[in-house]
Amino acid sequence: MSHEHELYPMLSVEGALDKVLAMFHPLEAERVPILDALGRVLAEDVCSDIDIPPHDNTAMDGYAIRAADVAAATPDRPVRLRIVENLAAGYVSQRAVEPGTAIRIMTGAPIPPAADAIVRFEDTRQVGEWVELFGAVQVGENIRRAGEDVQRGERVLVAGSLVRPQEVGMLAALGRTTVQVIRRPRVAILATGDELVEPGEPLEAGKIRNSNGYSNAAQVSLYGGIPIMLGIARDSEHDLTAKIRAGLEQGVDLFLTSGGVSVGDFDMVKRVLAAEGEMTFWRVRMKPGKPLAFGMLKTAEGRVVPMLGMPGNPVSVMVSFEIFARPAILKMQGRTDLLRPTVEAVLMDEIPSKDGRRHYVRVRVEQAQGVYRAYLTGEQGSGILSSLVKANGLAIIPEAWPNAPAGARVQVMLLD
Ligand code: AMP
Ligand code: MG
Repeated sequence: MSHEHELYPMLSVEGALDKVLAMFHPLEAERVPILDALGRVLAEDVCSDIDIPPHDNTAMDGYAIRAADVAAATPDRPVRLRIVENLAAGYVSQRAVEPGTAIRIMTGAPIPPAADAIVRFEDTRQVGEWVELFGAVQVGENIRRAGEDVQRGERVLVAGSLVRPQEVGMLAALGRTTVQVIRRPRVAILATGDELVEPGEPLEAGKIRNSNGYSNAAQVSLYGGIPIMLGIARDSEHDLTAKIRAGLEQGVDLFLTSGGVSVGDFDMVKRVLAAEGEMTFWRVRMKPGKPLAFGMLKTAEGRVVPMLGMPGNPVSVMVSFEIFARPAILKMQGRTDLLRPTVEAVLMDEIPSKDGRRHYVRVRVEQAQGVYRAYLTGEQGSGILSSLVKANGLAIIPEAWPNAPAGARVQVMLLD
């Protein structure tokens, strides 16, 4: 057993996640146009300086009347009122509804002075410039009151809450054009490996494409961060150190690397992390994703930036991101719902033998008659990205299970 194995005991997923999340805090606020606030967390309470709606208005197309005028109306003996005006939404009537008269009025238009009820067109009959009404109505019928949605001075949105489309609509209704939200974290993404070439480049003998940089950048974007793509570092301490320092100069909040963190001859990440700052832990009792390193990098100005050194295999790196980087990125954005919801599903395929680690198994989850069923999507090797492409969930097989028989009930993290 190497020196490192003794220094850094393998942690449980929860133990490692606790250590990671302890190093992240919500970032500062910034003011953005309200549409850009979608998916962000509010950094201010939002109060209304108006009533919504601002005036009593009609909920229906119909006639504004005085309820007292039609108290005696019946289907056989309708009451006739004279139509004195036609009022569209957006206009204010200057004219009071005198006894014996009515104003035609369209949904949303302010209630004219002295009117106290609206009768729907469907319940009336128009005869020239007269309207006939066939029954009594309640005072206030079909009237929407000023402030019934929001009252002036009311705190409508609360700092810390997530901005969804309905919050954007409310901000617009309040007349806001901008709002304060927590800024997006800047996340550096660096792939490592002498074997890597970028997607646009020719694939020479012995090379493979850098897919991790792109899957990780997509994950960063999906979870609200700004990916800072740093390309590929070669497997030398010198190049890795240079690329990390250059990345730190771009003012990042989290540094992600992939590859070079295992026990191979050219795995430099742990050594460079320790030299450029401090390594907090290495290795997590999970599969895929065991050789994960976490620590703190120091910038030239003495700022401290957390770094996750994730494994190189394309599935390992994405699962490690899901479990550790995603909650960190959400926490920096002020989110409190850091963990993905899980559903209980019946495992449809056997998972043969386990090794005391928690397994995250690529599955396709289907729901029928209220039951979720989880089917393996294929080979579970940590390099088999195609089985993650086919998956919509990760089934969580507990550490203690020696295997997982078909028919077992398991928790599944839904990925989309
Ligand atoms: P490593 O831990 O660096 O030995 O990487 C483990 C495996 O993942 C190797 O087969 C690498 O070729 C592969 N790998 C590492 N980085 C990437 C990457 N950026 N894109 C695709 N595969 C990678
Ligand atoms: Mg490598």
